[in-house]
Amino acid sequence: MKISMVSEHASPLATLGGVDAGGQNVHVAALSAALAARGHDVTVYTRRDDASLEERVRLCDGVEVVNVEAGPATAIPKDELLPFMGSFGDRLAEYWQGDRPDIVHGHFWMSGLAALDAARRPGAAELPVVQTFHALGTVKRRHQGSDDTSPPERESLEPRVGRGVDAVIATCSDEAFELKTMGVPSTRISVVPCGVDTGLFTPDGPAEEKGRPFRILTVGRLVPRKGVGLTISALARLVDSGRDDVELVVLGGSRPPAEVLDDPDVQRLLAHAEGLGVADRVSFRGQIRQGDLPQALRSADVVVCAPWYEPFGIVPLEAMATGTPVVAAAVGGLIDSVVHGRTGLHVPPRDSDAIADAVQTLLDDPALLASLGAAGIARTHSRYTWSKVAAETERAYLRTLRAAGRADRGGRAGRPVDHADRADRADRADRADRTDRAARLPEGVAGGSRRSAGRSNGRVSS
Ligand code: UDP
Repeated sequence: MKISMVSEHASPLATLGGVDAGGQNVHVAALSAALAARGHDVTVYTRRDDASLEERVRLCDGVEVVNVEAGPATAIPKDELLPFMGSFGDRLAEYWQGDRPDIVHGHFWMSGLAALDAARRPGAAELPVVQTFHALGTVKRRHQGSDDTSPPERESLEPRVGRGVDAVIATCSDEAFELKTMGVPSTRISVVPCGVDTGLFTPDGPAEEKGRPFRILTVGRLVPRKGVGLTISALARLVDSGRDDVELVVLGGSRPPAEVLDDPDVQRLLAHAEGLGVADRVSFRGQIRQGDLPQALRSADVVVCAPWYEPFGIVPLEAMATGTPVVAAAVGGLIDSVVHGRTGLHVPPRDSDAIADAVQTLLDDPALLASLGAAGIARTHSRYTWSKVAAETERAYLRTLRAAGRADRGGRAGRPVDHADRADRADRADRADRTDRAARLPEGVAGGSRRSAGRSNGRVSS
């Protein structure tokens, strides 16, 4: 298939960790590469945010990034990009007139808007559009209230995108529920998670030296809703309760390591740590390259992911793939990916005492730490490799083409391919693969993501 990914603010070529560069960038890059590995031609259209960028950049075999002229070629916060989506759609329409894709996949609501605009023009003959939202405005507003900087138009336009596209891929079951309440018909929703690079995030390999016997680690953007402040409060509680053996490493933010203290989020979090008397145990490292992340994750005893809400959350998968147990807020995608008591511990959102209790439980029980770590590795391999995610995404594309009556179109270089038949074969192969893997895994590890639903309140007893 010839696939057009549209990712207006999140380029697969961006540096990660800043306010607007995180999981979506990783997702688009890795999914595109994995689809190309399955034989598809992928082009990623993203807004040119730097005048020095070439129009076309090769990402890897089979994947090209097109930097689209839409608005000034400078970095602009994503919440200020809506005015440029009209010209982004115009450019997409021009590109697709010269080089028609078989399917379009929009990432984030504004990409969906521009993609639909271009795909529904008379000359475009109703190009099929699949959409992944990555985040929903309704959820953001619920949690951030007046701090939400999304443009007010998002409230009406985002549901319109959901209802206007041919199919929506939700990254977790919680998102699928939200989409239904937005009016997206359930028959058009599939759930396909994000993945993790299990070739890079491995349990074996170098690990950084620790500064104290136990290390807690967080990774990601440092915006308030990621909850790093809660983890600092949890650290203070552990110290207050008599633990002198713990440290916290915070990776990510909008600055490289040498300028980490210039990051306003780091300044805010450092002041919080100072206020609680634990600043000497917290080290802020700034942005880290993905290639350097595994050895940092391996050095940690526990990775804490404590967002207020989370559309998916790739970091817990990266931790699990390196064999590091996760303490995760039981929200959004983390409800699916982290299995309570098997690959980590769930805690209620915005509850630093519960984080402290969960970390304490793990640090006091080396056998539990080891078994959760092993199960995390097994779970990421059985469920979250990018090749699996790409296979499931491909099936969603094929179902969309079939529903749109285009199941026999879209062969590469004009070669007709019976996509419907290919979908059935892929389904059969994947079922066989799942059965085979399940047979090889420790009991319970390969199982459903809702196993933890039986817990009484998501709280961890210590
Ligand atoms: N990341 C990174 N370096 C950083 C900060 C983050 O490589 O300094 C990566 C992180 O490893 C993960 C992604 O950015 O792959 C963040 O994705 P996640 O889904 O966890 O959070 P999001 O940013 O989408 O909210």
